[in-house]
Parts: sequence; structure tokens; C-alpha cells
Amino acid sequence: MIKTMTLPGKDELISFLKKQGLIYQDNQTDEQSEYFLERVCENTKECFLCAGKPHTLGIFVPDDSLRWGAIKGKQRIFFYSLCQKCLKLKGAAVMVENKISEFFLRKEGGS
Ligand SMILES: [Zn+2]
Repeated sequence: MIKTMTLPGKDELISFLKKQGLIYQDNQTDEQSEYFLERVCENTKECFLCAGKPHTLGIFVPDDSLRWGAIKGKQRIFFYSLCQKCLKLKGAAVMVENKISEFFLRKEGGS
């Protein structure tokens, strides 16, 4: 599943992630939350497809997290951003999905 929204500012992003139960929860340390937030910011600072100016925040939630390297019982969520141009591309969602899968496969393949 892919969901997109206008790229939020950092404060909005923090409250969004809080609301989704992804950061600053009881079962997380502040370090874990901050690390997660940093990774989201890092992934969304430029367009995922062309490295252009980000415009839209995209959230990819795979149907089967295990296939994407998640631990059993944990949901994998991937944040990225797209520029205005790439957002309008036909098949952008498929291109993003392919690139995300490459990203995870590369991680599994070593290093
Ligand atoms: Zn782009």
C-alpha cells in the first residue's frame, strides 16, 4: 500500500509519527525514537526518484512485512518523498516500489 500527502515540516512530521504510534511511545527509548525520526528525515530530504526538491511525503506499507526483512510481528514502513515532477509521472508508484525492493534486497545481500 502506498499513501502520499503533502510533505510536512519537521514539527508536523513529529506529531504525525507520534499519532501513528511510531515514535515516543512507552515501549521506546527517546534514542530509538530520535533514530527513527532521523531516518525518516534522511529518506525524505530529496526526491526518491530523481533527488530533486521534495514535495510530497510517501508512505509505503508492504502487505507482507516479513518479505521485506521485518521481524515477525513488526510492521515494515518505508518513508520517502517525491518532487512535483515525479509525482505526476505515470507509474511513479511502481517505480518507487521497485526501487524500495532493490534497496532492501541490497541490504540483505551483504554489508
Ligand atoms: Zn523527482
